[in-house]
Amino acid sequence: MMATDTIRRVDVFSVLYHHAGGPFALSGGRSSNEQDATIVRVETGDGLVGWGEQCVFTPSFLPGYGPSTRAVLEPLARAVLGADPHAVELVHARMDAAIRGYAYAKSALDIACWDLHGKATGLRLSDLLGGTRQEQIELYTGVGVAAPEEMRERCADALAAGFRQVQVKVGSGRPDDDVERIRACVDALAGADRVIVDANGYWPQADAVRVVAAVDELDVYIEQPCATVAECARVRRRSRRPFILDEVLTGVREIVEAHVAGALDAVRLKLSNVGGITPTRRARDLAVALGLPLTIEDAGGGDIVSAASMHLACSTDPKLVLGGYLPSEMVVERIAAGAPAASNGMARLPTAPGLGIAVDESALGDRVLRIE
Ligand SMILES: [Mg+2]
Repeated sequence: MMATDTIRRVDVFSVLYHHAGGPFALSGGRSSNEQDATIVRVETGDGLVGWGEQCVFTPSFLPGYGPSTRAVLEPLARAVLGADPHAVELVHARMDAAIRGYAYAKSALDIACWDLHGKATGLRLSDLLGGTRQEQIELYTGVGVAAPEEMRERCADALAAGFRQVQVKVGSGRPDDDVERIRACVDALAGADRVIVDANGYWPQADAVRVVAAVDELDVYIEQPCATVAECARVRRRSRRPFILDEVLTGVREIVEAHVAGALDAVRLKLSNVGGITPTRRARDLAVALGLPLTIEDAGGGDIVSAASMHLACSTDPKLVLGGYLPSEMVVERIAAGAPAASNGMARLPTAPGLGIAVDESALGDRVLRIE
């Protein structure tokens, strides 16, 4: 006989998000205009419901492909039936025992268990994650790769919208083209708190060395200049700029490896790259212990992912929080009430238990799977 507060049913929905601002370009000609989202609804025997989400910004960015997320969720859901959703580490162990890898699919189920855990205890996730340190957080926004003058205009728009931190994407054409983009953006962002230059792992080491040398006098952060930790470490040794890594950071071991290699000054954690709130909490706590500033977010996603990111960020030592990011700001579709939203470059933490949002099932589209 199953205890009433264990997981008795998992439903999976598929939702296609559309970008509010049109296509967003990354290095190497990659672009995203819509995002393939997978929403997970987990119900316990006593009728409580928790929600999770994983969203593919573009399959050419991080590991993750919508149809594979949903396919892998079938055996993962079977593996967690009967589990106690409060025992988040045990739920993760069950998922890892069933299927190796697929951190992105596990992320959705993990977030849903944390939402259930909060709702059952009447606590916000930020309180379950160690305590609420901030009720609101300063956000950054992104500017995609484009011609320098277009990027300059978009940076000015971001400042006018109240953002004081802007991440500008680079990685197209010759290194000189990227230097020109960076100069135009820095010029437009005079007075901003933080300008971050993100190559998304595009530059060969030699090109990265050339670009960071050319912008060594500018007050910018350099994000994931090259694909590997070793290359990033070699480039950082020749730069005075602080380096942020994200794509290569898939867990605590990878943070230790990058730290020991001297490849980073700051950490950007992405929920689906690490595997959900449970392993991201560990990675967050390690970064804090190493004194590394960080952000906690995801590459893509809607209201559920944004809420989960806010709870992690707002329960982290404010001194070490670089900024927040709401992937939901990029997409048109709203799937929940009470979700965090950008206002003058800031976002507020939801106040209700769990994720603190009310998911609208009618906004979810087709249910693709039910396991009970
Ligand atoms: Mg990045």
